[in-house]
Amino acid sequence: MTVAILALQGAFAEHAAMLDRLGTEHFEIRQRRDLDRPFDGLILPGGESTVMRKLLHDLDLFEPLQTRILDGLPVFGTCAGLILLAKDVDGGVPCFATMDISVRRNAYGRQLGSFYTEQQCRDIGRIPMTFIRAPYIKATAGAAEALAEVDGNIVAARQGNQLVTAFHPELSTDLSVHRYFLGRITQRNRS
Ligand code: GLN
Repeated sequence: MTVAILALQGAFAEHAAMLDRLGTEHFEIRQRRDLDRPFDGLILPGGESTVMRKLLHDLDLFEPLQTRILDGLPVFGTCAGLILLAKDVDGGVPCFATMDISVRRNAYGRQLGSFYTEQQCRDIGRIPMTFIRAPYIKATAGAAEALAEVDGNIVAARQGNQLVTAFHPELSTDLSVHRYFLGRITQRNRS
């Protein structure tokens, strides 16, 4: 199994380190020709969603990646990566718009820009959650389901091939969210 990590900007190296610890092959997507390599899953990291959206278009990566996601490629978006997948973005412009979630960017304001908690996540268990100028999911629709909440706001969700967290599992030492994502790739490869 090989996982591609979008590496235009943001916290992509931390995801690579998690995949190293899990013994999973990975490579970075920085330009269009990187898409020629086969991959079974895609990680959209945290960072700045507005910058990533612009670079995706400038580098001609937007359309081929959106097509693959719509075709069922397993994708895991963290923080800014979650925003890139959302169909509705309050305080921003949608990017891939493949997931039936509406999100609020920078939802915790300046005071609470960054914080840490531990909560239960459905099908995964109790996990550490590090939030950095994070969005939250205001609502899910269609086939999207909430997996975790913090203070009544949805912070993790899935929909078919798509998995998102408003927090950064790659900034903790806990591998369980990445392991869960890899499990979903394995399931898809079997079916
Ligand atoms: N605030 C960022 C955005 O809107 C997301 C923050 C993050 O990814 N840590 O893109």
